[in-house]
Amino acid sequence: KCGEVVDALKESLNKNGLTEQVRIILTGCMGPCDMGPVAIVYPDATFYRRLRPKDAEAIVEEHIMKGAPVQRLLYRAPGAKEPTPCIHDIDLFKKQQKIVLRNTIYIDPLSIEEYIGRDGYAALAKVLTQMTPAQVIEEVKKSGLRGRGGAGFSTGMKWGFTAAAPGTPKYVVCNGDEGDPGAFMDRSVLEGDPHSVIEGMAICGYAIGAEQGYVYVRAEYPLAIQRLSYAIEKAREYGLLGKNIFGTSFNFDIEIRIGAGAFVCGEETALLASIEGKRGEPRPRPPFPAQSGVWGKPTVINNVETWANIAPIILKGADWYASIGTEKSKGTKVFALAGRINNTGIVEVPMGITLREIVYEIGGGIPRKKQFKAVQTGGPSGGCIPAEHLDTPIDYDSLGALGAIMGSGGMIVMDEDTCMVDIAKFFLDFVVDESCGKCSPCRIGTKRMYEILDRITNGQGREGDIELLSELATTIKNTALCGLGQTAPNPVLSTIRYFRDEYEEHIKERK
Ligand code: SF4
Repeated sequence: KCGEVVDALKESLNKNGLTEQVRIILTGCMGPCDMGPVAIVYPDATFYRRLRPKDAEAIVEEHIMKGAPVQRLLYRAPGAKEPTPCIHDIDLFKKQQKIVLRNTIYIDPLSIEEYIGRDGYAALAKVLTQMTPAQVIEEVKKSGLRGRGGAGFSTGMKWGFTAAAPGTPKYVVCNGDEGDPGAFMDRSVLEGDPHSVIEGMAICGYAIGAEQGYVYVRAEYPLAIQRLSYAIEKAREYGLLGKNIFGTSFNFDIEIRIGAGAFVCGEETALLASIEGKRGEPRPRPPFPAQSGVWGKPTVINNVETWANIAPIILKGADWYASIGTEKSKGTKVFALAGRINNTGIVEVPMGITLREIVYEIGGGIPRKKQFKAVQTGGPSGGCIPAEHLDTPIDYDSLGALGAIMGSGGMIVMDEDTCMVDIAKFFLDFVVDESCGKCSPCRIGTKRMYEILDRITNGQGREGDIELLSELATTIKNTALCGLGQTAPNPVLSTIRYFRDEYEEHIKERK
């Protein structure tokens, strides 16, 4: 559909003799999912949404030629009387701060020149010509950047451990196996700004002494794979990957590995096994990847969003980055807003913003004047946060204290009509399906939990079921081998914690 709008715009520009003066750039995702296809007309940054091919003529002949934005195509905030012409004033863009997504609404992801034009690869040049590897690691540590894949471990410390670990060669890995239901942040970075990931990985390669990187992307993201492959080729052509980068003795290259759709391959040890061509199963840690990663060698593994943060940290400095966010959670976080919310899409916000600001100011509130009930963060590993905690600042520690997790950034909003037991059952069903089966607490325990939830939601719940669920959940959390199993009971535990009455109601209504 987007392609048809582009064709119609080209045709209309051609008809009016404007093909030389007006340029159409196909960017990555701009963020507002429910409004597509969207377009921004510069220099006034007018934002058009839900475009159809037949709208192209009005945009060209009224706006571009006569300077008057086409009113009927402009964004109108829920309940607002007047439409909003400029993209920077629409609800979804208010309060956003873009570091990871700094380029996605501006550049053609297939153009390395456009990436370079926005300071692309300047950070790589800076580290290679002005910094020692130890200084690079120190700068990343000082920035306070924590891994955006879910666990939130200090990125600089991880690099430091890998650099100091005995054994060569060393490797750099990007985890692009984003599999949480409702999460599509990494996809939008890989599709919209693939060079930002390549540059971050190359900087790490220099810092830890690695010459080879791997990007592990799930097969369900064909466009991301296509654009990343093209970007790697272009970076090689420009001498930004390969031998003697920027005329120095630094060599670094990247290969893509495509995952086959197993959620568990997002777990780092399973991902590393899969890169080696083995079955994607987690293994116990230690040893951690910093000591023994790909091919048993010291390896840094970070996710897509983490890599996209590196170049701005190097260019603008650790102090600049550390000035954004909260005391223990620095920088920004990208979230995928979905569910019962007016404005769905991708947003990047400073850490410390409250859930209320995200749901009501950026997300535009709940459709059809319904009441907000809860938001699930962190997908199947996370938990739900009820209305009484809407003013919680978003950072790793506050979310953890509420029984949820930051996770990779999925944020699913639920309204008053949502049954929270159904939600818990949905996520558990996902985990039962995706469990690799290696350890019994996860393989058998989650299945038993699902059966109990199933009978509760089918009106066959028994007295003592809630206690049984809690007991099983605690055992699985304490004994499962990897993060998938250890966090699988979270949605059940958090819904019992905040919405126990709904479980009791179901059990009371036993058929
Ligand atoms: Fe596999 Fe689950 Fe055990 Fe992880 S916890 S190793 S996914 S069975």
